[in-house]
Amino acid sequence: MSTTQRSEGMNAFFDGFINSSTTLQQFVHQYDNALRQKAQKELEADFSSMNTTLPCGSQSLIERQYQTEYTQAKFVEVQNEFRSRMNCFIKNITKEGTITRYTVKEDVIWEGECRSKFHVVVFDPVTTYSHCSCQLFEFRGILCRHSLLVLGQEDVRNVPTKYVLRRWSKNVRRRHTLIKASYTNNIEDSKMQRYQALCKRFYDIAEVACDSETASDNLLSDLNCIAKTLGVCTSTTLSMVNDASHMDGRLHGNEDVRPSSEIDGILVRSPVAVKRKGRPRTKRLQSTVEKITKKKKSHATKTKHARNSNDIGYVDRHFAAAFQNELGPTWSLLDNNGHTHVVTYNMDTVNPRITNGWGQMRNIYPERLNDSHISFHYVGNNNFHITIYFGACSQERRESFIYDGTNYPDTSLFSVKLTKSQARGSHLDLQIAFGNLIRSKGLTQVMLLGQKDGVMCSVLVSVTRNSTKFGKGWKEFCTEYGLKEGDVLVFEVNNLGNDILVEVYINGCPCTVIHPISV
Ligand SMILES: [Zn+2]
Repeated sequence: MSTTQRSEGMNAFFDGFINSSTTLQQFVHQYDNALRQKAQKELEADFSSMNTTLPCGSQSLIERQYQTEYTQAKFVEVQNEFRSRMNCFIKNITKEGTITRYTVKEDVIWEGECRSKFHVVVFDPVTTYSHCSCQLFEFRGILCRHSLLVLGQEDVRNVPTKYVLRRWSKNVRRRHTLIKASYTNNIEDSKMQRYQALCKRFYDIAEVACDSETASDNLLSDLNCIAKTLGVCTSTTLSMVNDASHMDGRLHGNEDVRPSSEIDGILVRSPVAVKRKGRPRTKRLQSTVEKITKKKKSHATKTKHARNSNDIGYVDRHFAAAFQNELGPTWSLLDNNGHTHVVTYNMDTVNPRITNGWGQMRNIYPERLNDSHISFHYVGNNNFHITIYFGACSQERRESFIYDGTNYPDTSLFSVKLTKSQARGSHLDLQIAFGNLIRSKGLTQVMLLGQKDGVMCSVLVSVTRNSTKFGKGWKEFCTEYGLKEGDVLVFEVNNLGNDILVEVYINGCPCTVIHPISV
């Protein structure tokens, strides 16, 4: 027996039961043994879920709600979010009609330093639905720490039922246990025999009744009556399907953080992956990080060392600078077919790199990566939606996609997310490193060059307070570009000459404009 890497799940399933020298005859026996062990483990987990209770860690009624509903394994995951709530703080609250928008700061420790990540939670007080930009619920079905914090703030005692997924309920009755299997024990045998006898009878009746419409209707209403007397809930399957559609619909949302109530009822299916014919549309909107990967024939003879360097992905520095407060060390790349790739980001805005996982991704689409490009659409919180465009790509087109680090001369990038007073005020205080660089050039004024026009701006240096500011001209620049609170500016300063030009990218440069990918 041999299994391929793609079916790792099989390896885990048969772990300890078969090996490479297992014969077919042994395999048949071991298959039964593996199934029996699985069933046994499931029974044990069921037993502990039903008969023991994990204590709640907080005084929240929502936690109690999950405690009574979820299996132990899932409740542990929920509890982790409750625990992590203590690292989250509400930073800003804005009202938009009936909807409240919370900005939540989360402290995380990375390489011994404390860093902050920001998330937006939209809360609808009417329905008590909430939606967080981290999309944990959409991806994993677990209500995230940020939403829990907001629900606590809003005095929500119980979460709506749609946040309690039935698939993880310990009260779900497993029907497949009624089907006879080789590992079934004798105690369950009489129950199964009854079940099979009943099914056989139902099939006989259904076969006759389906001939006539009236007979079918009568049979159905009779069955409903019987179901009522037996206390069978007919909506079970329906609610399970609903759970799935909730997850499905949100998965492909972009960073649009509409409250969930607005998109309820709309079933968004996964996009169908269709191979594009011919060359890609040249007018296609560019995405956040555009990369091209070239696979040469010589790869086959590459040394191990070379293969490792293949694992490095180059990241657009403007993108890294613009989102430096948000980007964490682990990124999830989700492709159109629902495959997720996890890559490691080095958190270095000067030389941003993907240090792990990139090469593995190349191996997944190996034959086709030659002459194709991947578009990355950043949807927030370290998640990217990727689309792989197969097919020929012209040389010019390819060059416009390539980011190889050498395209950038020796430049420094600084990003600022404008506060209200910075966007409206007469000056901008510069970060220390940015200020030092400007001062080191001995400049008294700089030209702030945006995409429309340049604005001359004076540089104010205070030696005693060790501060540097953009003074006269800043207000004009803000007015010219209509800057407002929350806009992210990336300043690019050339380190080589004594330039007075500072290029300013407002909410992303042309190469970092965020557009949804059309599929
Ligand atoms: Zn969240």
